[in-house]
Amino acid sequence: MNLHFNQSLAKNYHSEPQKVRVLSEAWVKENSYCTNCSAQSLAEFANNKPVADFYCENCNEQYELKSKKA
Ligand SMILES: [Zn+2]
Repeated sequence: MNLHFNQSLAKNYHSEPQKVRVLSEAWVKENSYCTNCSAQSLAEFANNKPVADFYCENCNEQYELKSKKA
């Protein structure tokens, strides 16, 4: 019984960072804007870009999701 319970906990804990990341990225795409040129939306880099997560298509300013480094 205890073993089964712990496995359930671990499963939930493991999936949480992914949920946060997905929600954070969705929020950025919906709500962000370029602070450099005030363009209304940012474009998303391909997955696993090491430096930045989003960039402005208008002026190429790059942005990073801070939560990723926690
Ligand atoms: Zn811009």
